[in-house]
Amino acid sequence: MLFVSKLRHFSILAQFSGTVFRPQAAEEAQGAARLDKEGCMNYNVTKIRDGVWAIDENTVRMFLVDGGTEALLIDTGFGSGDLKELVSSLVSGEITVINTHCHGDHTSGNRQFTRFVMSREDLDAIRPSCPDGARIRTVTDGEVITAGSACVKVLAIPGHTPGSIALLDEKDRLLFSSDAVAKHFPVYMQFPGQDVGKYLESLKKMKALRGSTGKIPRVCRSKAYG
Ligand SMILES: [Zn+2]
Repeated sequence: MLFVSKLRHFSILAQFSGTVFRPQAAEEAQGAARLDKEGCMNYNVTKIRDGVWAIDENTVRMFLVDGGTEALLIDTGFGSGDLKELVSSLVSGEITVINTHCHGDHTSGNRQFTRFVMSREDLDAIRPSCPDGARIRTVTDGEVITAGSACVKVLAIPGHTPGSIALLDEKDRLLFSSDAVAKHFPVYMQFPGQDVGKYLESLKKMKALRGSTGKIPRVCRSKAYG
């Protein structure tokens, strides 16, 4: 298998991993308290910011952004439990799922939801995971997705899949980097349709988000092992 860690451009990843979200013990305890409900036991919830949570399911990590009257759910994981019930215990109103890419560990809980946003390039691969009658919006680089007061900007980051997207929460300075950034978990690049050259360009694009302060946004990676 070809892992990105073995590529000569590994230094890009190393430089990129400066600021990453890490659960804190007290927050983990808070999340664990929410797991008492039957159906939510497969998930561990950690608060990142007010109104922003990480939801871990085995190796994969999803994110929930509360917009007050609506909410954004970034990916739906393996679908091993009642994710909708868990999410509904944290936020109110309609939930819009954003699928960062088409891999099954990010889309297998889609059937529990009805409203979706994804890239056009990954649409055909994701659509079968959505229920009949689902409302699907496709987005391209630079578009903004809102739900109530929640707002994220789309960054096209092809490579890991043709239509991979990252999401930038400019208000909270959070970058939801999908599977494109990893530290203790490999970025799989051995499957058909994956493109290492495009992937490296996508990493540079995210790295360029440092901005005038010289600080990269806090990186929220999609693997539960950091
Ligand atoms: Zn993936």
